Amino acid sequence: MKTAARIRSIPPYLFAKLDEKLAAKRAEGVDVISLGVGDPDTPTPERVVEALREAARDPATHRYPSYYGSRAFREAISGWYARRFGVDLDPDTEVMALIGSKEGLGHLSFAFLDPGDEALVPDPGYPVYGVSALLAGGTPVSLPMTAERGFLPDLAAAPVSKRTRLLWLNFPSNPTAATASAETFADAVAFAKEHDLLLAHDAAYAEITFEDYVAPSVLETAGAKEVAVEFFSLSKSHNMTGWRIGACVGNAEAIRALAVVKTNLDSGQFDAIQRAAIVALQGPQDHLEALRALYRKRRDVVVSALNALGWEIEPPKGSIYLWVPTPEGKSSAEFADFLLDEAGVFVAPGIGYGARGEGYVRFALTVPDDRLAEAMGRIARTLGG
Ligand code: PLP
Repeated sequence: MKTAARIRSIPPYLFAKLDEKLAAKRAEGVDVISLGVGDPDTPTPERVVEALREAARDPATHRYPSYYGSRAFREAISGWYARRFGVDLDPDTEVMALIGSKEGLGHLSFAFLDPGDEALVPDPGYPVYGVSALLAGGTPVSLPMTAERGFLPDLAAAPVSKRTRLLWLNFPSNPTAATASAETFADAVAFAKEHDLLLAHDAAYAEITFEDYVAPSVLETAGAKEVAVEFFSLSKSHNMTGWRIGACVGNAEAIRALAVVKTNLDSGQFDAIQRAAIVALQGPQDHLEALRALYRKRRDVVVSALNALGWEIEPPKGSIYLWVPTPEGKSSAEFADFLLDEAGVFVAPGIGYGARGEGYVRFALTVPDDRLAEAMGRIARTLGG
């Protein structure tokens, strides 16, 4: 039996590998605190869970769902975009349901990249953009996100070519926690128009923001729908990572192309989950204030613990992560291993997010407060001497 070359050429998914390492430590009896994967530790709002219970009892939900998402789900997404961003979306042509946004992020490459075509991917960035380009036979091209520019792209210097078909952006960013302004998106839309490519913005963390910062949608930019799609997810905004529900919205032609891939490969998400997601989107959103306050408090715990040890970290305005430079002379893998071995704290090495992630580790703020305090106490004892 021989697997395809594309499988052999792709490194194992970072977190699958890290999970093995973590499991090995735990098997040795170490009480590891994992700040590795960003998976919310607090539950889905109860009213959403109730809605799923009720919907699952209705046999109408037991059959194949719509490929595109139910009309009601697409209307709920379009209603959210109208209320939250002032963006009009046609539920019939400009909204498509996804089995979690990751599914759509991955499939988009198959809709836009022919062999040899290029995708500009944030470096460091969420690995799916680049890996899906490779799986589709395309080439991911690093779009540097440097500390000097606040981890925002320098599009004037972007390595664009005649083969570039896609530009990926993600704000608030995983892993850097950088946030975008309307100007960042206006520049990106202009760039996409100039180079005749699709701008794909991943808005997974748009609702997790702090202080007075409110994350814009790329679709708020005038003319964005001509060249852009946005990936929407309920995973982080409604603590629904396990439910696998999201949407792709924006440019109708891009959504049609994505639908060609998806209708041939999957049969949509369980209708009961879509019904629960509608309840999540349409009901009161007061859980969001609590969620933001929770992550803001945790962000401050980590920032002040690290700054007391000599770091100079500015608290970020969004996401559930902190992007932390490694101490002088330590690579990201060395520092992550050091924290695991010496403090029993697991963080994600920056190299897993691209070559420009070297020299950083990522802390996820998704463990209960007492465990986070314990983790930072252990790190302080290990590094503080
Ligand atoms: N996009 C980014 C930037 C992420 O960090 C994640 C998950 O961590 C996702 C997308 C995936 O979200 P979903 O659960 O909607 O697939």
